[in-house]
Amino acid sequence: MNAPDLSKSKLSIIGAGSVGSSLAYSALIRGSAREITLFDLNEAKVNAEVADLSHGTQFTPTSRVNGGNDISVVKDSSIVVVTAGAKQKPGQTRLELAAVNVDILKSLMPQLLEQSPNAIYVLVTNPCDVLTVVAQKISGLPTSQVFSTGTMLDTSRLRRAIADKVRVAQSNVHATIMGEHGDTEFPLWSTANIGSIPIRDWRDHEGNLVFTEKVLAELAEEAMRAAYSIIEGKGATNYAIGLTGARLVEALLGRQRTILPLSSVLDDYHGISGVALSVPSIVSGRGIERVMDVPMDASEITMLRRSAAALKQSLSDLGF
Ligand code: NAD
Repeated sequence: MNAPDLSKSKLSIIGAGSVGSSLAYSALIRGSAREITLFDLNEAKVNAEVADLSHGTQFTPTSRVNGGNDISVVKDSSIVVVTAGAKQKPGQTRLELAAVNVDILKSLMPQLLEQSPNAIYVLVTNPCDVLTVVAQKISGLPTSQVFSTGTMLDTSRLRRAIADKVRVAQSNVHATIMGEHGDTEFPLWSTANIGSIPIRDWRDHEGNLVFTEKVLAELAEEAMRAAYSIIEGKGATNYAIGLTGARLVEALLGRQRTILPLSSVLDDYHGISGVALSVPSIVSGRGIERVMDVPMDASEITMLRRSAAALKQSLSDLGF
């Protein structure tokens, strides 16, 4: 297996559903890649999405949009983002989706690798942490080259909620969600800050502490449950995950060395190995360059272990 080859700047998106087409649209209008390719088994759907997207290229930085239902369209991709699969139904947990989407991935991965052996693989389909382990096992790719957007979206949701609460720019909020993209995820409150002020020390105009333990717990819950309420309302979450994927593609193709919370298979991270969980990671042109050993207090380490145990259980239920 060779190192990732990003020279063609080709982004292939597997699955042209709500998430895949929104990712294509985000990447198109942001100019995240030089070429954007959509692949889906549903021929009518993928051709319609490609046509609709390409009709806007007069107004976008990216001008090459193509795709179809033949796997050869993804040949020589720099980055392959997998969004194909069944989606979360109202009330269904992400882990309940696992068996169906594992089977889809098992059939897809070998075909994708045949077309693009040197690509970086990004899993978006849920449960994305479970699927990252499965994809890494099937492909034999280095853990730096196959990973998931993980809690990147959840972190953006959390930062939005904190920024709204104290009316400051979102870019001044430094807070990260770690662990599973799902029910056991948790924010790193011990190091979270707003413009260098530790979040637990932030006071309002009257001098009252804003982020009490109760407020922090509510914010964590809100970020974790956001997908459920959006799915209740409109059947899918798509725009924010589309932007999340586009931003990640830019970090990779731009060799930006950005730190993002991504889920890759861990190797002795606080004693955790063989499961994929989100940890702040340096992203370069090689994929995940380094998984950072971030400071955590005792309760955060406990929550990381709880997340790892939940993922281990799901993997073992699925026979991995
Ligand atoms: P969707 O049903 O709208 O689209 C899925 C698409 O996958 C469909 O067009 C379907 O034809 C296609 N597909 C199925 N099997 C295929 C195969 N073998 N090859 C090619 N295409 C195939 O679903 P959606 O709303 O786009 O959601 C997609 C996935 O993304 C779900 O698993 C969802 O839970 C997940 N998701 C993840 C995040 C995240 O943060 N990780 C956020 C939102 C959604």
